[in-house]
Amino acid sequence: MVAAYNMPIQTHNTNAYDTALAQFDRAVRYLPIPDGVAEFLRYPRREFTVNFPVKRDDGNLEMFTGYRVHHSTILGPSKGGIRYSLAVDMNEIRALAMWMSWKCALAGLPFGGAKGGVVVDPRTLSPHELEALTRRFAAELIPVISPHADIPAPDMGTNAQTMAWMMDTYSMTVGYSVPAIVTGKPVNIGGSLGRNEATGHGVITAMTEALKRKNSSDAGSVRVVIQGFGNVGSNAAARAAELGFTVVGASDVFGGIYNPNGLDIRALQAYVADSGDLRGYAEGELVTNEELLTLPCDVLIPAAMEGQLTRENANKVKASLIVEGANGPTTPEADDILNDRGVTIVPDILANAGGVIVSYFEWVQDLQAFFWDEDEIFRQLNRAMIRTYEATERTAEEYDVNLRTAAQIFAIKRVADALMTRGFYP
Ligand code: NAD
Repeated sequence: MVAAYNMPIQTHNTNAYDTALAQFDRAVRYLPIPDGVAEFLRYPRREFTVNFPVKRDDGNLEMFTGYRVHHSTILGPSKGGIRYSLAVDMNEIRALAMWMSWKCALAGLPFGGAKGGVVVDPRTLSPHELEALTRRFAAELIPVISPHADIPAPDMGTNAQTMAWMMDTYSMTVGYSVPAIVTGKPVNIGGSLGRNEATGHGVITAMTEALKRKNSSDAGSVRVVIQGFGNVGSNAAARAAELGFTVVGASDVFGGIYNPNGLDIRALQAYVADSGDLRGYAEGELVTNEELLTLPCDVLIPAAMEGQLTRENANKVKASLIVEGANGPTTPEADDILNDRGVTIVPDILANAGGVIVSYFEWVQDLQAFFWDEDEIFRQLNRAMIRTYEATERTAEEYDVNLRTAAQIFAIKRVADALMTRGFYP
């Protein structure tokens, strides 16, 4: 077993990072790598904190704090999203950066892992204030980002417009357009077709692969519940409905809606596009987010945030398959309970890899200034998702472990092998 992580804990939220480290420790002991290498891989390579002012519309200045963590740059430039949320802190960003390292390695992408975020509830800012905050944060990040060093993308609370402002700020600073500085941008400034839908689409490909192994072939009889109705959740819902699955529950931060006969996902998407959230949607029964996780269903897709399935609710989950759209939604204690109960969990670094896979396609297209059509994107995305699923499954059989530990073993091994081939500087 490797030595305990002994960096100073800087902020209050240790949960996500504790989870990431516990998952790493569970997996790394299967690998014949030196303790020193395992210890090296537990540390983020760089951590960057910025404090900066934003002028509110009323003329007052307000201070904000933002972070960018590069966990690993062994396989290539670091890659990872930018999150705007009040729950952002250094430990959450460290965890998310580490998961990005394993996710990119698992999918065979030439990227390391990074993550960033600002402590802010974006719904409390006007569009003008949001743009000012994004541009100032992007300017603060210039010393640590570049198309060849670290490439941000959207995550919770950010979207294609946020990426457009970041790309413009970076481009204005260097004096020429640099589309490859971020992925997840609008298509008209160098974004990729399919990137908006990619994560949700990939989640459903992973779900379909898992259902095949359960000999569950009749899509209509599979009841799906989805927590979170943002980029990942709503696109997963749309793709599931398109393939004929019955989505019986969905939720956002305000609560959920349940209809045992199946929700009309197009109508729900139109409602949310119009009103901003799910509140007030009439075609179902209102449930809390806690109730949503334990609704009668076959597949549960947590697609909101980390730490949702815990030792308190894991025993009440009725789904026999969990497909993790969000990063880190299951605590290690809940993992043990669900595994003991025979629930299959398709882990985050496999299930939601579709986002970074198409981000990789976007980056390649930007660097080559040569763009692919949508069919090509989805064909390559499906191929990559299925290949990654099969590699994880083979590893699970080889080591006799569950899919989460298998995914981590496969990914950590790939990074550790590259590290040992490169050697240790100086
Ligand atoms: P988003 O901001 O577009 O949507 C988040 C959704 O979750 C919203 O509907 C929000 O109302 C809801 N939500 C927030 N807090 C909640 C809570 N406590 N309970 C229930 N619902 C809550 O974010 P997103 O981009 O869809 O990201 C969701 C998750 O997926 C995150 O864990 C993110 O890291 C992960 N992820 C995103 C991508 C991507 O491409 N966007 C890729 C991989 C993983």
